Amino acid sequence: MSSIEDIAGLLEPAFPAHLYVHVPFCRMKCSYCDFYSVPIGNKDQIDVVLRGIDAELRQWGALRLPGVVETLYVGGGTPTVIGPGALQVVDSVRNGMPLRAGADITVEANPDSVTGELMYVFAMGGVTRVSLGVQSFDEKVIGVLGRVHTPEEAVSAAETIVAAGMDLSVDLMCGIPGQSLESWRETLDAAIGTGAAHVSVYPLTLEEGTPLEVAVSTGLVEPVDPDAAADMMMLAEDVLAAAGIERYEVANYARPGHESLHNLAYWTGDHYIGIGPAAHGMVDAATARSAGLAEALAEDTVRVRFGNAPDIDEWLFGGRRTVEQLTAAEAMREDVMLGLRLVRGVDATAVAAAGLDATLEDLARLELVERVGEGGPHARWRTTAKGWLLGNEVFGRVWSPDE
Ligand code: SF4
Repeated sequence: MSSIEDIAGLLEPAFPAHLYVHVPFCRMKCSYCDFYSVPIGNKDQIDVVLRGIDAELRQWGALRLPGVVETLYVGGGTPTVIGPGALQVVDSVRNGMPLRAGADITVEANPDSVTGELMYVFAMGGVTRVSLGVQSFDEKVIGVLGRVHTPEEAVSAAETIVAAGMDLSVDLMCGIPGQSLESWRETLDAAIGTGAAHVSVYPLTLEEGTPLEVAVSTGLVEPVDPDAAADMMMLAEDVLAAAGIERYEVANYARPGHESLHNLAYWTGDHYIGIGPAAHGMVDAATARSAGLAEALAEDTVRVRFGNAPDIDEWLFGGRRTVEQLTAAEAMREDVMLGLRLVRGVDATAVAAAGLDATLEDLARLELVERVGEGGPHARWRTTAKGWLLGNEVFGRVWSPDE
């Protein structure tokens, strides 16, 4: 041991990190959903999964990886359908890894499984934010989505979360068959009325093989005109901004100081570890080697993305992960692509270092991105209002500039 820094190196884990834990249970499957989840089973099945999550956390903790956990996101699935078991996940993290005091801890919830008692337990257990899956406050639209809650339950759940002293984030969805602009406006107003500090707005994606996609592709349900969906996205920005809830990412809005630190980590190239079936993570090559994420990594790999087996049994019995290796050039392109999801955009020097100046200049000619802060110390590229509506075009061109 040659220096104080060496000793400190042993005491301090390598770098700050972020954890996502996937709780794979739902009350029933929504008509549009292709996330991995199974119908909630008996207590034994839940216990087996919680023990598997605990074991996976301890494996990472024993390796002193990934480092001090700054944010924890317990998602799914619907973590709240397992009741206080969702908090058991938070306790497993505390026992298995260094979790920074006052860390940002988010748990996903659905309105039908929020109770005052459970929210009190969450708040006492250190949960700082509950992300409530509402999607719509219009009963007819909720029916199209095949969700099990009512608008009244959503309002009541939101009030319960706020009363327990936690930050409330509301998830909304637009571009749903049968959803009018008026219905969407009422949903936005209702979301603002809940006191939410954070709102996520996603346009519906018809995932292949889901009941809603099948209903649309067979003509049983009329799809939404893409222009109408774009109008809804633009209305969301205007209505939420007027209420002081500003867009900070393509699909996310927050009151100042209430942005999701966990999600920001995804968009700024920080490491994150996925725990549980179907969970994903991203680490540097050295961490991936230490954790044995792949039998062999190519010499030029600097970043590794991995996905756990998307099935409870396979995951429990150590089923193979998917592993994607990125070179330095790919990692830089990815950072630019993710940075363009943010309203603040991405530093022009990072764009130049990634060799993407010409690509962004092309996109600027199409008015999809713009360069701002010229002449100052922090020239940046950022996505325009038109670019937000054509996000796939922007992000696709940055990821594959030669196609
Ligand atoms: S509650 Fe969420 S994860 Fe569960 S089926 Fe519905 S959309 Fe999917």
